[in-house]
Amino acid sequence: MSSKTEEILTMTKKLSKTDRANEKKGLVIVVSGPSGTGKGTLISGLMELDPAVTYSVSATTRERRYGETEGVSYYFKSRAEFEEMIANGEILEWDEFCGNLYGTPKSALQAKIDAGIDVILDITVKGARSIKAAFPEDSVTVFVLPPSIADLEKRIRGRKRESEEQLRDRIANAEHEIACIKEFEYVVVSDSITEAPVRLKTIIDAERQKVRRNPGLLKKFSGDGVGDNGTCSGTDNGGDEARN
Ligand code: ADP
Ligand code: 5GP
Repeated sequence: MSSKTEEILTMTKKLSKTDRANEKKGLVIVVSGPSGTGKGTLISGLMELDPAVTYSVSATTRERRYGETEGVSYYFKSRAEFEEMIANGEILEWDEFCGNLYGTPKSALQAKIDAGIDVILDITVKGARSIKAAFPEDSVTVFVLPPSIADLEKRIRGRKRESEEQLRDRIANAEHEIACIKEFEYVVVSDSITEAPVRLKTIIDAERQKVRRNPGLLKKFSGDGVGDNGTCSGTDNGGDEARN
């Protein structure tokens, strides 16, 4: 059995009985925001609070940094290997960021959604647009803002990963990305390592409870005046407005 299949089976077991009975598809949680804003820290905090959420490991041509693990942080590829993955249709969306390519592997993401497993992605604004277009019903987009640009610069400097030139490049890019915030459904300010993940979890919990994300419940009660077969009393539209 491949490690991906094993991971999916383990995660499926972790799903609550109610979620499985409700035939829920996995929710795709898209997190974007400037480099250094705290997306990685926020996602780690969220995954501690909510172990049912899994991480979508991207492929990249960027060099591996100290402390990063192949297949956990990223799948590290040469440019030729990455281009071959695109040509073979293995990459769902990709973007170029500060001279490197980054992309979301398609099959792992699709398998998790189909198995009802929630997946979180840390991707660029362009990537977020592509994922929203691919999964308009099953995704939620969250933009992560730093408390201020000064804090952002301090954070990038503080983690001592980038050269001065790369830092400038990332700050310039940050301003372009923040300009796109209106395309997103939610915003989280990464002002606290403990509280920001709680706010992200609140968003995810609310999204999971959306009526259209619980088709099994609708089916269970259809015929009793709820769902597609019943007629909602008091409206002449069968409740379609409330469902969106
Ligand atoms: P990103 O994934 O967006 O590039 P990181 O999660 O790597 O950002 O965070 C960048 C730096 O900022 C790290 O050194 C991290 O420890 C720090 N950091 C992240 N979130 C906060 C926060 N809420 N308060 C203070 N520092 C933070
Ligand atoms: P870093 O080099 O700091 O790990 O990542 C740089 C940027 O690439 C971050 O903004 C991150 O969100 C983005 N990124 C990482 N993986 C992907 C991906 O699969 N697709 C896209 N579009 N962006 C990604």
